[in-house]
Amino acid sequence: MIATDLERIKLDQDVRLLRGEIERIGGEAIITLQTKSGRKTVTAPIRDMGAALDFVIRWIASDESGLAEVRGPADVHAVGHRVVHGGERFSESAVITDDVLKGIESCIELAPLHNPNNIKGILAARSVFGPGTPQVAVFDTAFHHSLPEHAYLYAIPYHLYRRHKIRRYGTSHRYVAYRYRRLRNQTREQANVITLHLGNGCSAAAIQKGCSVDTSMGMTPLEGLVMGTRSGDLDPAIVNLISGKEGLSPHEVESLLNTQSGLLGISGLTNDMRVLLDEVKEHDDRRARLAIELFCYRARKYIGSFLAALGGAEGIVFTGGIGENSPEIRERICRGLEWAGVALDDSRNQQMIGKEGLISGDGSKIGVYAIPTDEELLIARDTVRCVLGERHPS
Ligand code: ADP
Repeated sequence: MIATDLERIKLDQDVRLLRGEIERIGGEAIITLQTKSGRKTVTAPIRDMGAALDFVIRWIASDESGLAEVRGPADVHAVGHRVVHGGERFSESAVITDDVLKGIESCIELAPLHNPNNIKGILAARSVFGPGTPQVAVFDTAFHHSLPEHAYLYAIPYHLYRRHKIRRYGTSHRYVAYRYRRLRNQTREQANVITLHLGNGCSAAAIQKGCSVDTSMGMTPLEGLVMGTRSGDLDPAIVNLISGKEGLSPHEVESLLNTQSGLLGISGLTNDMRVLLDEVKEHDDRRARLAIELFCYRARKYIGSFLAALGGAEGIVFTGGIGENSPEIRERICRGLEWAGVALDDSRNQQMIGKEGLISGDGSKIGVYAIPTDEELLIARDTVRCVLGERHPS
C-alpha cells in the first residue's frame, strides 16, 4: 500500500504504508505484514484471494496496524495489479475495463500459470473495493515492446508467428533500469545498460537509450539463464529425446524443464542458492559447485552476447534475491570479463548486500551496480498516472 500522487512521483517522495505477503491461500495461510511500526506474521485459514484481501483490509483498519490513513476499503483509491503477460496487445499499463479483462484472458495461453491468478486478483479486488474503485493492469511484458523484430522473432516459419504469436516477450526490468538512471543522473536516452535479474526466476535484458532491445526470457519464462528450477536455454530436440527415453509426454517434459531443472536439477539438492553456497563451503559438494558454475557461466555468456548486441554498454546491474544479496555470485559472474572493462571493487561488492550502489572500482570502464528491485513502486505510480489519464513509457 503506497501513498502517492503526481507531485510525490515528481519529487520521488512516494510513501510506503504497508508491504506484505500472503502465502498458501486455500489452506492455513501465512500472512506477513510490515508497516513503519513493525512486522507481524500470523497464520489463519484463508479460502481464496477475496478472503485474503478482506483479511488485509480488516487488519489495516484495526488499531493494531497503526495506519491512521486507511480505516476501510473506501480509503483505498485505486488498485494496481502486476499482470505477467499482456501479449502483443498491451504495450503500456491500462485501466482495467471489461474489454481489458478479456484481453488479459486472451493471453492465458501465453502464461497459463500466471494470468489466471492475476485475473482472480482483479475480480477479488473488484468485489472487495467495489466496481467504482479504478483498477490498473501493469504488464511485465510491456517493458519489452521496444524489442526490434530481429530480437523478438524465432527463426521458425514466419506463419507460426502470424498464426500463434510465437515470439519472445520477456519480463520487466523496468524498476532497476529506472534506478540505474537515477544513480547515474542520466536521462532515459543516455542509459545503455545490461540488467541481470537473478532470483528464482532469472533473466537478462539489454537496454539501449533507455529501451529494451533484447532479453533472455522467451515466449515463456523457460528460456535464457539457468534458474532455480528451470533449465534456461536448451536444444529443442532434447524434449523429444527425453520424452521417448523416459516415457514422458511432451507436457510432462516441459514440466520437468520448469520444475526439476536448473540449480535443483544439476545439484540434486535444492533450488536455493544460499544452501548451495553453504554446501560448497562446508562439504565441498561437487554437484552444488557444478550448479553454481553453470549458473554463473551462463550469466557471463549473456553479458558477453548483450555487449555485442548493444555495441558496448556503460553499466551492468545485478538485482533479484541472488543479484542483490550475493557478492560471491556477482564476483564469479564478473570474473573473466576484465577484457570488456569490468573490474569489481572487492570491498564495495562485499558491502553491497540488500542495498543499492556501485560495486565496481573507480577505474572500471563499465560501472557495475547492485540494485534491489521494487516493481510495486512502479505499479503504484503507473496506477496513479493511468487513473489520471497521464501517459508514461514502460
Ligand atoms: P523470486 O524470483 O521468486 O522473486 P528471489 O528474488 O526472492 O526469488 O530470489 C530467491 C533466490 O535468492 C534464492 O535462490 C535464494 O537462495 C537467493 N538468495 C537470497 N539471499 C541470498 C544470499 N544472501 N546469498 C545468496 N543467495 C541468496
